[in-house]
Amino acid sequence: MRLNDATTALYGCRRKEELTGRRILDFVAEQDRDRVMDNMERAYEQGRSSSIEYVLRTKTEKEIHAELSTALLRDKSGKPAGFIAVTKDISERKRAEDEILQRTRELSALHQVLTSITQTLDLDTVLSEIVSHVGAALESNYTSIVMVNEDGSLGIGSEEFVDITPLSTKPRPKGSARRIVDITPSPISARPHGVTRHIVKSGEPVVIDDVDAVEGTNPILLAAGIKSYAGVPIKAKKAIIGVLFVHSTRRNAFAGKVRLLVAFADEAAIAIENARLYKDASTVGALREADRLKTELLANVSHDLRTPLTSIKGYTTTILRHYDRLADDEKRDFLREIEVASDRLTELIENLLQLSKLEAGGFHMQKEPVVMVSILSNAIEDIEQKTKGHRFLSHYQEPLPLVDADPRRIRQVLDNLLSNAVKYSPDDTEISVECQAAERELIVRVRDQGVGISPEELDKVFDRFYQASSGASQRGGGVGLGLAICKGIIEAHGGRIWAESALGKGSTFAFTLPLEKGSISDETDDSRDQ
Ligand code: ADP
Repeated sequence: MRLNDATTALYGCRRKEELTGRRILDFVAEQDRDRVMDNMERAYEQGRSSSIEYVLRTKTEKEIHAELSTALLRDKSGKPAGFIAVTKDISERKRAEDEILQRTRELSALHQVLTSITQTLDLDTVLSEIVSHVGAALESNYTSIVMVNEDGSLGIGSEEFVDITPLSTKPRPKGSARRIVDITPSPISARPHGVTRHIVKSGEPVVIDDVDAVEGTNPILLAAGIKSYAGVPIKAKKAIIGVLFVHSTRRNAFAGKVRLLVAFADEAAIAIENARLYKDASTVGALREADRLKTELLANVSHDLRTPLTSIKGYTTTILRHYDRLADDEKRDFLREIEVASDRLTELIENLLQLSKLEAGGFHMQKEPVVMVSILSNAIEDIEQKTKGHRFLSHYQEPLPLVDADPRRIRQVLDNLLSNAVKYSPDDTEISVECQAAERELIVRVRDQGVGISPEELDKVFDRFYQASSGASQRGGGVGLGLAICKGIIEAHGGRIWAESALGKGSTFAFTLPLEKGSISDETDDSRDQ
């Protein structure tokens, strides 16, 4: 074998003499020897062969990527006399190729993340998509996104485990990703290794190639067999909103991968911000809905406000303009109309104020132990004075336990239900009021034999401004706020209110109130006392 200087150097020899007695195959890595032999045989048969790549093993056992081209040498008579082999060091090219391959892989993983996360705006889905793509692209055994909450606390936004036992001590049912707002910091981020905090504070990536070489690694990670990990900050426009972590059970798994991880984190930041903005937009939607309700309320109310105002204005103008020509009786009638319209206006405004306070939760109930029967009896007595057409009956289970309630408000509810019963049922029919105690509550029912309410409208009558079609002819001055207020009051007491009805036969409005604590016979308490 004769070699030029460059090849001698490539084989790891300083002088050509070192190669005496050795064959080319001695400098070929074992796994490639058959291929090199084949290549030479082909050159022998065909005169030359196409070049092949192989691993060259130098004299000092160093492995180099090389390329071999072989051609047959013939003597003057044309008989094969030997080979001429050209060996080229291609390690540089190999490295560049590998890098291109790796880069392509990275780009395609990034592209995948981009397409899938831009298709969703749900934050939990965005986070788990990122985690799963990053995990796959970087062959991570444990991939996680730790989020920085608004109050500065940390919590796992999403995590994924591959070929590793999940680390979290609290098992989480599949598909129940923790929400950013209410994530409780998981043990992994609460541990003192402090890497997450460090990354959030410094804004710089951290790569640990060998956990055994550094101190203070999270013991949970160590116990899970993690050998190396990397974390990069997820930087939103204004702040660092989280950290993207990859962990591996192999050492040095992420050396040289930081650039890719940062690219992923940048995509993650955009996707997270988008999802958050979208969530805020939903809040804007809710506000818009509230605004729409307010407009609807004004539209409803302005009509009801204007009617009595118009009549007040009309009668007042008439009286003033024709004061001398009007008889005293006429003037009194007009003044009475003005009084009625003013009362209606006052009532409407009071109802509206009360309803808005009830809905905003700002209505304070002055609760006290209440004897229900006396409220019921007083309410019936008062309505009996005002209406002569109906018969009132009452059925009370006696003795009734006390309830913890605001007596004025409960009376208001009863007045409302009773006047509705009168309003929506013809003369000469019965209206009955029943009261009985159940295990933990008192149930009151106001039953009439009136027009009734259709089944699909039973719940709606408690909505503000809702007026059922069956009651149209009897409605009079109502605006559909009474039952909405009743509902607000009863619910503020911790009770329920509902209606039962058969169209044309009558309606029953029922509500419950929780019994006063002392009046509930609690068996467990009793047994404890004994
Ligand atoms: P209003 O009586 O001022 O219209 P409410 O809020 O008190 O407002 O009642 C809402 C609607 O429920 C009424 O318009 C009526 O259609 C229906 N309603 C209430 N009580 C009864 C009842 N006892 N029988 C039949 N329909 C009723």
